[in-house]
Amino acid sequence: MTMPTAEPLAPARTYEVRTYGCQMNVHDSERLSGLLEDAGYARADDDQQADVVVFNTCAVRENADNRLYGNLGHLAPVKAERPGMQIAVGGCLAQKDRGEITRRAPWVDVVFGTHNIGSLPALLDRARVQQQAQVEIEESLTVFPSTLPTRRESAYAAWVSISVGCNNTCTFCIVPSLRGTERDRRPGDVLAEIRALVGEGVSEVTLLGQNVNSYGVEFGDRLAFGKLLRACGGVEGLERVRFTSPHPRDFTDDVIAAMAETPNVMPSLHMPLQSGSDAVLKRMRRSYRRDKYLGIIDRVREQIPDAAITTDIIVGFPGETEDDFEQTLDVVRRARFSGAFTFQYSIRPGTPAATMDGQVPKAVVQERYERLVVAQDEVSWAENTAQVGRRLELLVAEGEGRKDGATHRMSGRARDNRLVHFAPPQAAGQGHSVPPQAGERGHSAPPLAGEREHSVPPLAGEREHSVPPQAAGQGHGVPPLAATVRPGDVVEVEVTYAAPHHLVSDAPVLAVRPTRSGDAWQARNGEPVRSSVGLGMPTVGAPR
Ligand code: SF4
Repeated sequence: MTMPTAEPLAPARTYEVRTYGCQMNVHDSERLSGLLEDAGYARADDDQQADVVVFNTCAVRENADNRLYGNLGHLAPVKAERPGMQIAVGGCLAQKDRGEITRRAPWVDVVFGTHNIGSLPALLDRARVQQQAQVEIEESLTVFPSTLPTRRESAYAAWVSISVGCNNTCTFCIVPSLRGTERDRRPGDVLAEIRALVGEGVSEVTLLGQNVNSYGVEFGDRLAFGKLLRACGGVEGLERVRFTSPHPRDFTDDVIAAMAETPNVMPSLHMPLQSGSDAVLKRMRRSYRRDKYLGIIDRVREQIPDAAITTDIIVGFPGETEDDFEQTLDVVRRARFSGAFTFQYSIRPGTPAATMDGQVPKAVVQERYERLVVAQDEVSWAENTAQVGRRLELLVAEGEGRKDGATHRMSGRARDNRLVHFAPPQAAGQGHSVPPQAGERGHSAPPLAGEREHSVPPLAGEREHSVPPQAAGQGHGVPPLAATVRPGDVVEVEVTYAAPHHLVSDAPVLAVRPTRSGDAWQARNGEPVRSSVGLGMPTVGAPR
């Protein structure tokens, strides 16, 4: 009797997610990947054309739609050559443009919105079976996205949504109309997700919401965010807690106290200023004024002296005068931001500001923007220079140092979130002396034009990475010499150079602490993990 021969399994269909815009979208893309993998798809290799390409779009820039249709246009002939290939468009621009997308790009198979990302696999199936484009947009959230499967891009750091949507009405922002009013997750659900992540090896979480300081408004607890931070302090094994974005209007002293008194809440704060002029803030419908903003900064510095404070600033908002702009420069100098994401105002269709009188000419916006960048670079560079000689604890990162391969360095984030490039102990032990690289000046050099990493706005839609920043260098960003200090491990270094947007340590590493996150990174990269590690005392020198 002969056994029936098993049919060879068809290879899984592959997918690629292209992400534009803010951290919300980056995290949503982790969910889209998780959903697709749950449905049997496999992530396409970098050099492979995927069977399914998903665009997770952003709507904040004037030309966002032109860029999307340009990218879709490039894919049309590729799809024509590949029977069975599918293209899906989701995110804010899809929520806004809806059926317009399939009218302008009829080769798109699926359009889904910000409220129904969980429908993507079913919509792809339906489009395939019915041989017809599927456009499905919901007006409000039915399932909180955090309940969806998620493919986390980092083994050691994770985004955790605490809310979606926003109840404010800033006149430059499209979020309220595209993401809806604020929906808060229950603290117990948030903490359960954090504990589960820590159980998988994560040691840093970033709490995500459009306005984290209004967290609790939906369930009637105005102090909920500070309480949540304190509760994070009780999660064993959770080493670092960050959050984004706060709002000065709702930023209360109990949150500052919670930050100061909870050891695993990091001394870093990203506090969007937008403008230093009360008149402009009023037109932006940002319901705080410069004095209130500066008062918050003063109180943060009083209680958390090592805090690094970053911000967002929009230049050239409609009606902004030279005097208004000077007031923004004044706040920049007084607040001593360690970095700023600076935006040139441009019309965002669908926002109230788009039709306001007093649109500032492009040349004026550009000239003010350049002055702002110079002013902020001076401040950032001076603030970073003050770090030289300090001993910093770094969580070793993956993919954050673009030149790491060439310099034989690794990169990590200090507790205050500063980016530090360091020579790993293996490199130092092998006698590598790593001189400062071109473009990476010592602390006595002035800022260089073009060194404006922090001038790139986080919401600009200019990031077209198909994987989030944590994972961007996966597999090739870590020099071989550094094989025993792993992303996710913790090192201590002395800062030897300061540039406006990063620090460098070329001194011998002072301590290395292997972590469960390092183990998790190693296991994820298919390498055997020799020992699991607790959260013990630092080891000096080479880790093993
Ligand atoms: Fe809400 Fe922020 Fe948009 Fe203002 S800028 S409406 S606070 S999401």
